[in-house]
Amino acid sequence: MNKTPFFEAIRQILAIRNKLVLTIHTNPDGDAVGSALALAAFFRLHKQEVTIVSPNKFPGFLSWLKGSEHILIFDQQAKEVKAKLKEADYVFCLDYNGFSRSGTLQEDLQKLSSPFVLIDHHREPETDSFKFIYSDISVSSTAEMIFELIAGFDQQYFKNQEIAEALFTGIMTDTGSFSHSINRSETFNAVALLIQYGLDAVHVHQQIYDTFSENRLRLLGYSISNRMQVFNEFSTAIITLSREDLNRFNFQIGDTEGVVNYPLSMQNIRMSVLITEKSDQIRFSFRSKGNFSVHELAKSHFNGGGHANAAGGNLKLPFKEAIDYLIKVLPFYKNQLNS
Ligand code: 5GP
Ligand code: MN
Repeated sequence: MNKTPFFEAIRQILAIRNKLVLTIHTNPDGDAVGSALALAAFFRLHKQEVTIVSPNKFPGFLSWLKGSEHILIFDQQAKEVKAKLKEADYVFCLDYNGFSRSGTLQEDLQKLSSPFVLIDHHREPETDSFKFIYSDISVSSTAEMIFELIAGFDQQYFKNQEIAEALFTGIMTDTGSFSHSINRSETFNAVALLIQYGLDAVHVHQQIYDTFSENRLRLLGYSISNRMQVFNEFSTAIITLSREDLNRFNFQIGDTEGVVNYPLSMQNIRMSVLITEKSDQIRFSFRSKGNFSVHELAKSHFNGGGHANAAGGNLKLPFKEAIDYLIKVLPFYKNQLNS
C-alpha cells in the first residue's frame, strides 16, 4: 500500500489542535493497547487532546504501561465515553477492521458523524466505514504500522520511553514473542531502532511474560493436561475451558492469553483451538501453522475472522453444543488440514 496519502492526512490533522478519540477492539490485547498508548503519546506531543477508549477491560499484564491508567473502559464508564465520542473531531480505530469488532461500543460508534480513521493489519477491512485508511495485512502488528507512521515524522520520537515501550509491547505480543509473523526484516529493523534509541526490551518482556499469578500458570497446566483433546486425523488439538474450570482458577481477564499457542508445538498439529465459556457466548480462538487459514474457518463458521494463522470468533450456543459444532466442522477441512 502507498502510505504517503495517509501520512499526509495525519499531518493535516496534527496541524491544528483536535479532539481525538482512539478506540481499540473488544477484549483488547497487547497490540491494541500498545498501539493506542503509543499513538496517544505521539499525538499529545502535537498538542492534540486525546482520549483512549476500550470497549471492555484490558488484561492486567498490560497495566504497568504508562498511560494505561487513563484508558476509558466503555463497560464501566459509558457516560464519559459517550461525551468524548460526541465531541470528537476524529475517531481512530486501531487494531480492528470493522465496527462489529468494537463489542458494546458498536452502536455508539455507528451513530457518530465524525470521520473515522483506520490503522489495522487484519484481513478484509470494512473500507466504507472509514475516511482515512492505513491497512496492511503483511505487517506483524498494528504497533509496527504506528512505528512506521511515527518514523515518517522523526525517529527521535523513539527516545520517548512511553512510545517505545508501547510499540515494542504491540510488536512482541502480536508475534508471540517473535515466533510467528516474523518473516519481514522490517519488523526486526523497527525493534533494533527502538533499542538503539534506548528501549529496555528485556524489561518489557519480563513485565508481560514473567508476571503470571500462580492461578494463571496452574490454569495453563490444567488446560494442557486435563482439557486438551487431540484429533490426529485432522491434525488438530482443542482445549475447552468451561466457566467452572475458569472459576476454579479464579480466572482474571488475560489469564487464558497464549494458552491456544501451546498445542501447535506438537509436531503434527496444524491447528489449535481454544474454546472458552463466557457469560453470554462461547469464544473461539484459532491458531494454525503453515497455509491453513483459520481466518477463513472463523469467518465461515464462527462469526469471526482475523489473520491467516490467528483468528477468533464466537457462537451463541450452549457450551457442549459449541464444542460439538466445531468437531462436526473439522471433517470438511480434513484434506486442507493434512496437506
Ligand atoms: P485471539 O484468539 O487472540 O482473541 O484473536 C486472534 C486474532 O483474531 C486477533 O488478531 C483478533 O483481533 C482477531 N479476532 C479475534 N476474534 C475475532 C472476531 O470475532 N472477529 C474478527 N474479525 N477477528 C477476530
Ligand atoms: Mn494486532
